[in-house]
Amino acid sequence: MKTDIVKLEQNAGAFSEKEEEYLRRAGKIIREGGLVAFPTETVYGLGGDALNRESSRKIYEAKGRPSDNPLIVHICRLEDINGIVSELPESAVRIAEAFWPGPLTMILPKSDRVPFETTGGLDTVAVRFPSHPAAQRLIAYGGGYIAAPSANLSGRPSPTTAEYVIQDMEGRIDMILDGGEVGIGLESTIVDLTVEPPQILRPGYVTQEMLCRVLGEVDTDVTILRDDSGHAPKAPGMKYRHYAPKGELVIVEGAPDRVAAYINSRTAEDGLRGERTGVIGTEESMERYHAHVVKCLGSRGDRDSIARNLYLVLRQMDDEKVTKIYSEGFAADGFGQAIMNRLLKAAGHRVVKV
Ligand code: AMP
Ligand code: MG
Repeated sequence: MKTDIVKLEQNAGAFSEKEEEYLRRAGKIIREGGLVAFPTETVYGLGGDALNRESSRKIYEAKGRPSDNPLIVHICRLEDINGIVSELPESAVRIAEAFWPGPLTMILPKSDRVPFETTGGLDTVAVRFPSHPAAQRLIAYGGGYIAAPSANLSGRPSPTTAEYVIQDMEGRIDMILDGGEVGIGLESTIVDLTVEPPQILRPGYVTQEMLCRVLGEVDTDVTILRDDSGHAPKAPGMKYRHYAPKGELVIVEGAPDRVAAYINSRTAEDGLRGERTGVIGTEESMERYHAHVVKCLGSRGDRDSIARNLYLVLRQMDDEKVTKIYSEGFAADGFGQAIMNRLLKAAGHRVVKV
């Protein structure tokens, strides 16, 4: 299949005539059952018509994704949620008012219009109203309901630039909208509103604390930061070893001096054994490392930067053929919980405390 790749220069909301034409063409592809990758404020999405079971099948096929892993349905007007849920609790309305459009996904009971292919066989549906102008326009042109997982091959880090979408998806889908680098860099927070109290199934930019301020009590799925709880994650997708780089990744936690000393001794040894070594560090620590490849996530105190660069750096480690990767750890509070959740999954929960 030939993939049409077009550039959107304007992310600020005002589209040129040519860009409107691209977005209209992309919307038509979606309405006719095709697939289009597009930028959102979190990561790039791989979109198809959420109400068309064939489109959802094609999404699973293009990603190589297990079909029990449900898709998030994206809308571009608040009222459109009524078309796909069978019940709209007051809590949903309150958090929609507080966080939509934005990086928050709600789980609600699905209506009959949503095919089971889209929800991975579940009676619930995941809904999000993204804030990215190109995403909103595409959803409107595409018929109002776009099912979109991240636009990566299953198991790879989610793409935060169009280059990585092209790497994974060229030849597998109809069109890629290149909107440059995304803003947040980690997937949306998922909150399940079908249980009482509501429960966070995947941490993201909207934190537990922010949700608590609107809803009162909010729980977190115990599996988010641990793999030894004996429970299966409630979001089916969270059970897979997601977000993984090709090299073996280990997280090293402890006082900065000891972390640097440990990582340097390991990379020296690994190097002697013929491994190509990489370190994921921060501005404060970069100078200390001697690995073949040293990548910086940003300043330790700047979580937005760490989140935005995480998947990019994991992909760069692959690009540079690194076989052994060591990463510093981060405090798992607030937005840091989302960062550590993704990093732990990328590392298959291999953590060394020094
Ligand atoms: P992605 O498509 O990569 O953003 O991943 C979507 C995530 O949402 C996966 O972890 C899914 O398991 C989760 N998800 C989607 N729909 C539901 C649902 N109805 N119930 C629970 N989790 C869901
Ligand atoms: Mg994904």
